[in-house]
Formats: sequence, C-alpha cells, structure tokens
Amino acid sequence: MSLRSIVKSATGQDVHVCQSCNDCDIGSYADMDIPLSSLIQLVMLNDEEALQCRTLWSDSVMEAARGACKRGLDLYAMMIALREESLRRAGR
Ligand code: SF4
Repeated sequence: MSLRSIVKSATGQDVHVCQSCNDCDIGSYADMDIPLSSLIQLVMLNDEEALQCRTLWSDSVMEAARGACKRGLDLYAMMIALREESLRRAGR
C-alpha cells in the first residue's frame, strides 16, 4: 500500500489536496532535518524517506503541525499515521 493510501485510510486525509504552497513551514527546530512541507511531498511521491526522516519524529514539529496547513489537511494526524506505519514496518 502506498504511503498516500496508508494516510488516507488512517486519517481520511488525501495528501493530493496539498498545493505545495509551503505555508506549513512554520519553524525550524534542532531535531528536524527537512521542512514539514517536504515531508508531505515525500508522502505524495511514496518515498520511504518520509518514514525515516528526523522531522517525522520531532515532537516540536508535530505540535507545530496542528492547524499548520492552510488548505485543511490535518498534518498532525498524518504524522501520527506515518509514525505508526514506520513502527509497524519495524515490527514494533
Ligand atoms: S500548507 Fe498544506 S497545502 Fe501548503 S504545502 Fe503545507 S500541506 Fe501542502
């Protein structure tokens, strides 16, 4: 199953709603390696890097993700779904 489908199934959010406006790039934190908008782009591309990047595991980013998308995507819920998928693949 693609990352897009996994997110859709878990959250009801379709990442293809994303317009790549980068408005969700609300901050830079020491424990992130790519911008939040890039994480969403990786999901759109079904790139496994989305599950391995430090940004996904940053609690600061996750908190900032609440309400960050101006087009109504729930990025907080998407990050939770991606974390769960990463843990599932790791057998945890
Ligand atoms: S704010 Fe929303 S639409 Fe814009 S890049 Fe971020 S996720 Fe995509």
